[in-house]
Amino acid sequence: MNQHIPYKIYLEEQEMPSSWYNVRADMKVKPAPLLNPATGKPLSVEELSPIFCEELAKQELDNDTAYVPIPDEIRSFYKMYRPSPLVRAYCLEKKLKTPAHIYYKFEGNNTSGSHKLNSAIAQAYYAKKQGLKGVTTETGAGQWGTALSMACSYFDLDCQVYMVKVSYEQKPFRREVMRTYGAKVTPSPSMETAIGRKINEEFPGTTGSLGCAISEAVEAATSQEGYRYVLGSVLNQVLLHQSIIGLETKAALDKYGIKADMIIGCAGGGSNLGGLISPFVGEMLRGEADYQVIAVEPASCPSMTRGKFAYDFCDTGKVCPLAKMYTLGSGFIPSANHAGGLRYHGMSSIVSQLYADGLLEARSVEQTAVFEAAEMFARVEGILPAPESSHAIRVAIDEALRCKETGEEKNIVFGLTGTGYFDMVAYEKYNNREMSDYIPTDEDIAKSLASLPVIPE
Ligand SMILES: *Cc1c(COP(=O)(O)O)cnc(C)c1O
Repeated sequence: MNQHIPYKIYLEEQEMPSSWYNVRADMKVKPAPLLNPATGKPLSVEELSPIFCEELAKQELDNDTAYVPIPDEIRSFYKMYRPSPLVRAYCLEKKLKTPAHIYYKFEGNNTSGSHKLNSAIAQAYYAKKQGLKGVTTETGAGQWGTALSMACSYFDLDCQVYMVKVSYEQKPFRREVMRTYGAKVTPSPSMETAIGRKINEEFPGTTGSLGCAISEAVEAATSQEGYRYVLGSVLNQVLLHQSIIGLETKAALDKYGIKADMIIGCAGGGSNLGGLISPFVGEMLRGEADYQVIAVEPASCPSMTRGKFAYDFCDTGKVCPLAKMYTLGSGFIPSANHAGGLRYHGMSSIVSQLYADGLLEARSVEQTAVFEAAEMFARVEGILPAPESSHAIRVAIDEALRCKETGEEKNIVFGLTGTGYFDMVAYEKYNNREMSDYIPTDEDIAKSLASLPVIPE
């Protein structure tokens, strides 16, 4: 096809999907259910409802409904920043002198700066509809907390964010964005919850961790009337909401008759990747098409490439349900790396099952190589990418260079999940050549995997 492809393929407002797509409906092997850690039995909607909003608990357990209509209130909000563009990376192609065609789906075009808003607005909507007063959550690097605070202000819901103390102190601008949208931001561990007080007593001066912030947020939700806990990745419901990314990508490609050969996404908890690939993997599962799908993770936190497919705790505090996933063990502490959003020890159960069934491959990349790709991308394409997103850029570049060797004109599509304006400390380290590429040893991983839970029969 010789038709000219515009730099940015935009969909019309009315072409924005009206339903989310639930890839579980087409999976022959369904993702393993969440288990109650006390009984080892699958959790029911009733058991999940004291923690999660009821409609979200239903979505979490729904393996059968393929298309879930997007409520009008959520679509109206989506229209403020969606449909998001699918960009043909002409300048990057030229720089690489590759015959490959590179496309990226850009999700950084909103104030929170990432795809996380797609699920934040859905979760806030269902909380409001249930008549709740507010929601609680944790945030590490701050992207999720920012997205949720925007969504809550839109629906006039109270938003309480437990922010890992080290990020609270090091990322004051993220904190202030959240407060501007009306969220209450508490450095974690705090003295406001029993678990926070206990952790502070045991580890005086600790700068906190995501696992501990989760435990605080869950306690805050269950101890206040009219509050529920919400989570920005990993869960099935989050992948469902993020399917908007993949549905729009597919609609934009179809509009110009482009068939993707390769789809690449970065994987932290797996939500943007899962959302991007869902409609494409759905076609694979139904035997309609074939794609090469690649999940990219940091070499410092390699849950898919070096972890184990097993039931594990979702948090360090072990208060959450057990999920079957590729995991490094809930006690795994990745070395300080700058892709905060990819530092989770586990992986979405859906993405894990698809990986186990051979529908996607996984690669791990080192931090310095990721920032080299980020720098090249920023200089030619203009957008300053988030470090997380730059993992996908790295592999897209590697694959485009491979095409240069073989002369193949492949269509490479990757997810550009967000912008990196709040990550300038990381860029500073890179610019000063002070970045480290620590990779955990087999012993490190074996040690944290040794504490995987034993599932009651
Ligand atoms: C949170 C985040 C990610 C990783 O989260 P997933 O759930 O794996 O998608 C990737 N990119 C950005 C910009 C993020 O904020």
